[in-house]
Amino acid sequence: MTLHDLSRDWDVVVVGAGVAGSVTAYRLARRGFSVLLVEKSAWPRAKVCGGCLNAASLQALHEAGLEDVVSSVPVYSQLRLASGKRQAVLELPVGRALSRRILDARLVEHAIDAGTCFLPETHAVLENTQDADADAKAFSREWRPVVLANGTDRVTLKARLVIGADGLGSRLLHGDSPKVMHVDVDKTSRIGLGTTLDNAPDFYHPGTIHMACGRHGYVGLVRVEEGRLSVGAALDPAWVKQCGGASFAVAQLLQTSGFALFDSLYEANWQGTPRMKRSHPCLGGERLLLVGDAAGYVEPFTGEGMGWALASAAAVEPLALDAIQQWQPGLVRQWTARHARIIGKRQRTCRRVSVLLRHPRLMATLLPLVNAVPTLAAPLTIGLNRRYRFSSKERK
Ligand SMILES: Cc1cc2nc3c(=O)[nH]c(=O)nc-3n(C[C@H](O)[C@H](O)[C@H](O)COP(=O)(O)OP(=O)(O)OC[C@H]3O[C@@H](n4cnc5c(N)ncnc54)[C@H](O)[C@@H]3O)c2cc1C
Repeated sequence: MTLHDLSRDWDVVVVGAGVAGSVTAYRLARRGFSVLLVEKSAWPRAKVCGGCLNAASLQALHEAGLEDVVSSVPVYSQLRLASGKRQAVLELPVGRALSRRILDARLVEHAIDAGTCFLPETHAVLENTQDADADAKAFSREWRPVVLANGTDRVTLKARLVIGADGLGSRLLHGDSPKVMHVDVDKTSRIGLGTTLDNAPDFYHPGTIHMACGRHGYVGLVRVEEGRLSVGAALDPAWVKQCGGASFAVAQLLQTSGFALFDSLYEANWQGTPRMKRSHPCLGGERLLLVGDAAGYVEPFTGEGMGWALASAAAVEPLALDAIQQWQPGLVRQWTARHARIIGKRQRTCRRVSVLLRHPRLMATLLPLVNAVPTLAAPLTIGLNRRYRFSSKERK
């Protein structure tokens, strides 16, 4: 299939085939809309992520009819949290851990089965609506042009709605007005680093997330499919450089926390993200709605980001239906408010936890207390795993 075979009008073009994009595509294709899902990477692709689907994420998958993507996937029910030499073991509602290479491929399969047309290795760009002449502006009232590039091939399509699911550092708003395209990036926030290792010592046993926290960041390790070890870290970039790279920084955190060190860590193939904490005042533009990490992000804890992506795919669906029928600029305002209510609230809890994680001495004081009285941590673990709720108006 060439790009030119696809150059027709689409109800929806979804940009980015991560959790948010593939599930939104699946949901809208199931409704009978023509949906094109565009992904810039060769597929399947790996992605910086711990791969932990917490109880809220599992519930969201179940409610979307996608629970089979996690069938026979390893479960976890404990978090071993360490700061310095102090540790606590917290009981967690049951979650599952799976590498993103496998999870995202399974979700895209579902989107395709529902009728989505999937186009990997293709970069999507939105044209600038600000500098457009009057004809182009009139045209964009009906359609949003989307430019697709694949090697030297380039084509412009028309979409009634574009779903921006292009992850952290989304650039889809760049063609909009300066007010709309503004993004607040916290310059002190950490970068994400991740890898999946084939060999790791038994110390990292299945069923437990191991998390080591220090002054310059934290790292989480969990067993995923086939006994592989998924490693995800949020670290200060200057410190990573000072340590001589991601492997040495992670090794230092593990060692300080009394966690096992192992050789394959030094041969790991690391992927990274830009600085993670960012927010948009406006979650969309002309015929565009942003979902998942593209809509803003805080530092991860243990299995929230994919839950937010799944919740935003569910929450955007009713507004997407309206947008496809008839676009109204007020939809962006509605989406921004709905996102703040459903996902922003959870992100605020995570932001508070990430502040605590930045104070290892305080953590070291709290951990023995939590170990002695595990119920102290219950409000947090229950809160982070609580099912996403939608009002009847927010479900259609
Ligand atoms: C270190 C770390 C650990 C984490 N651990 C966990 C965890 O254990 N559990 C959890 O739930 N969450 C975790 N998260 C968060 C989670 O990874 C994200 O929240 C989640 O991936 C968001 O999904 P998404 O679909 O919005 O974005 P992504 O998964 O990033 O998908 C975006 C996709 O868009 C594609 N794309 C980008 N630009 C374009 C373009 N112009 N054209 C076409 N395609 C494009 C990208 O290639 C990518 O495939 C972690 C994050 C980090 C950084």
